Amino acid sequence: MQLPRERWEGDLPPQNWPIYGRIRFVGFELRYRPELAPAIRNLSVEIEPGERIGVVGRTGAGKSTLLLGLFRIVEASAGRIEIDGMDIRNFALEELRLKIGIIPQDPVVFSGSVRKNLDPFSAHSDEQLWEVLRRAELETLVRQMPSDLDTPIHEGGSNLSIGQRQLLCLARAILRQNRILLLDEATASVDVSTDEFIQRTIRAEFAQATVITIAHRLNTVMDCDRIMVLDAGRLVEFDRPTVLLRRSQGAFAALWREEQGHSRML
Ligand code: ATP
Ligand code: MG
Repeated sequence: MQLPRERWEGDLPPQNWPIYGRIRFVGFELRYRPELAPAIRNLSVEIEPGERIGVVGRTGAGKSTLLLGLFRIVEASAGRIEIDGMDIRNFALEELRLKIGIIPQDPVVFSGSVRKNLDPFSAHSDEQLWEVLRRAELETLVRQMPSDLDTPIHEGGSNLSIGQRQLLCLARAILRQNRILLLDEATASVDVSTDEFIQRTIRAEFAQATVITIAHRLNTVMDCDRIMVLDAGRLVEFDRPTVLLRRSQGAFAALWREEQGHSRML
């Protein structure tokens, strides 16, 4: 596989890094372009190993941007992110991205077979691949494909639904046993049962991992350890869900009331 060289330039993270999955944002700022206002402003928080964090906020608040920052799709314009005490900026991109599991809002799978998408470096046996496909409830689908594991997936994943592409990302993260998992719930086109299946599987398969979940329904994150509430790129609240709910003047409580009102209207 030919990759642009610079994606491999930089330090190699230690082989078993990250052991703990502690994530620290230090004065982190992200701008999509220098002339644009920051999409994340001066964020300083520490996420403990094994914590389950929910991220909520209105559309455009910067939730997905947070994950793009962690995955270094876009680099910090100020500050830094440390994982287990190491600044992620210094690591070779490809290496960093192998170390963090991500299930994006609208996953772009790359063109190549199911196998290549799961295991680009052929590091795992067929049995292992089938096993994770089974756990991600994709086994039946892949068995029905014309050449099962070797069936090509079209560029952009057009022969898979968004939900199925999210499940493929989930299977890949299970395969790699990532210590850190980022989930950006799909906004559209994913049925509630797939959504719930993803949540349930993450709880079972990533019980020890640090999990950051971006949720569009607040119910999804009510059992998280802590919830980050973003508003126009700023962190406005960060605490346990019960604490945030009790703070009746708070941003989370306001979002909660809105959602309750909205669901009554439906
Ligand atoms: P949603 O709930 O709709 O998914 P979000 O909280 O994930 O919203 P982001 O996608 O993180 O919001 O966007 C944060 C801000 O950054 C918005 O103002 C958005 O317009 C801007 N933004 C996002 N992607 C880009 C981009 N590629 N180029 C320029 N600006 C962008
Ligand atoms: Mg988003």
